[in-house]
Amino acid sequence: MAQEDIFKKLVAHCKEYGYVFQSSEIYDGLGAVYDYGQYGVELKNNIKKYWWDSMVLLHENVVGIDSAIFMHPTIWKASGHVDAFNDPLIDNKDSKKRYRADVLIEDQLAKYEEKMNKEVEKASKRFGDAFDEKQFRETNPRVLANKEKWNTLHNRFSKALNDSDLAELKQIIEDEGIVCPISGSRNWTDVRQFNLMFATEMGSTADGALKVYLRPETAQGIFVNYLNVQKTGRMKIPFGIAQIGKAFRNEIVARQFIFRMREFEQMEMQFFVRPGSELDWFEKWKETRMKWHRALGFGDENYRFHEHEKLAHYANAAVDVEYKFPFGFKEVEGIHSRTDFDLSQHEQYSGKKIRYFDPELNESYVPYVVETSIGVDRMFLQVISASYCEEQLEKDTRVVLKLPPVLAPVKLAVMPLVKKDGLPEKAREIIDELKFDFICQYDEKDSIGKRYRRQDAIGTPFCVTVDHQTAEDNTVTIRYRDTMEQERVAISELGKIIGEQISYKKLFGKLQ
Ligand code: ATP
Repeated sequence: MAQEDIFKKLVAHCKEYGYVFQSSEIYDGLGAVYDYGQYGVELKNNIKKYWWDSMVLLHENVVGIDSAIFMHPTIWKASGHVDAFNDPLIDNKDSKKRYRADVLIEDQLAKYEEKMNKEVEKASKRFGDAFDEKQFRETNPRVLANKEKWNTLHNRFSKALNDSDLAELKQIIEDEGIVCPISGSRNWTDVRQFNLMFATEMGSTADGALKVYLRPETAQGIFVNYLNVQKTGRMKIPFGIAQIGKAFRNEIVARQFIFRMREFEQMEMQFFVRPGSELDWFEKWKETRMKWHRALGFGDENYRFHEHEKLAHYANAAVDVEYKFPFGFKEVEGIHSRTDFDLSQHEQYSGKKIRYFDPELNESYVPYVVETSIGVDRMFLQVISASYCEEQLEKDTRVVLKLPPVLAPVKLAVMPLVKKDGLPEKAREIIDELKFDFICQYDEKDSIGKRYRRQDAIGTPFCVTVDHQTAEDNTVTIRYRDTMEQERVAISELGKIIGEQISYKKLFGKLQ
């Protein structure tokens, strides 16, 4: 099945099974805003727990905060967001659709890459085991021609971004013959800058209302609390502050479901270090974060690092962790070495000293910062994309979400074989015993087969059937979602069997 079709099915599945709904759906929806349903919120909370605990539980020197969404407007002046938080946008005059110029060009780069990969794939099939991919990439004329095009475009694109040369971005789009996916035409407007922050007013107009912004990132809430946390927590450098919270961006092009939203959630950690040591810490956090992703078992080959074409004004190193979504490799997380830019700016704009006295060096300095920043929603999409699968069985097909058990919303479904003979009561007893440890669901409607399918579709890793034998010997049949294997086990064993599989501790073991 084509990847786009899989993606469409996945989006439909998320809606049908209570994971993600379009916001304000009965009013025809609101662009790029989504609500999480009864299972979505559980998965999201589990993702957040995985991240939070991996930061603050596993690192003695990382603590958390929860700062407000509204902040003093000068913060956004100091951070550069008022003047420089812009996306280059371009409109197609025929379709009247708006695009991000940089994204159009990135898609074009991806096309050249795809062409090279197709050649490699074809040749690999032709030559079988004898195939030497490295040599093929270095010598095949078609691969080399596309590589040349990629390099030329990449260099031109990086330069245009770094020079903020909007006319050149438009020229690239024209020279590459990039067309609007809707109208198919090349009838483009000029490229313009567009600020992504939402603004609103605080206080009544009679008082003189203050223009405030909905924060476009959670990081600034951490920077402006640096001194509070360092002092009250008696933190010693190096140390980190973690935060999970909502962020808002007036995205020009909101596409691809929850990949790009106008209201989303971020999990960010700012790690404060001694000046000069930031690039070592940058490498360390790169490795730590990649391990965190890979520990979920979605396949190491589905992740890669992507170096930034253009470093943000505050950064001296930056890399994205990209995951292979059904629509290609895309950013899930950014790791940035932000230098002392943010704290120095806040020093300047607030007039307050934001320093650290380093007892080992016997001197004060503005700490440098390495940031890890990941979107909860993009992570959610990664988990769902990796887990969604359609399996051909002997008689029919099944749709199953092979979620890592530790993240699955419902861990256990308990099903009485029939609705009589005391079986429902026995099933309830099992739930009453286990419900304090994880989410259990009771299901007595329809045939057992149909009930299994329903649980497969929401990704429940374990189902237990209570039958007449249960009343006699206190055993049940446990059925495993991924293998569909069944075995007879004692009720008293259930907590242990399931507990082991859904343990965060086991997952964290892979991070050490
Ligand atoms: P992009 O290039 O895709 O716009 P970005 O580089 O602007 O992303 P950052 O500012 O580094 O993103 O934000 C850190 C993380 O926050 C991203 O890696 C992503 O997971 C998440 N994120 C950013 N913007 C959005 C959005 N509009 N919707 C959902 N998640 C987002």
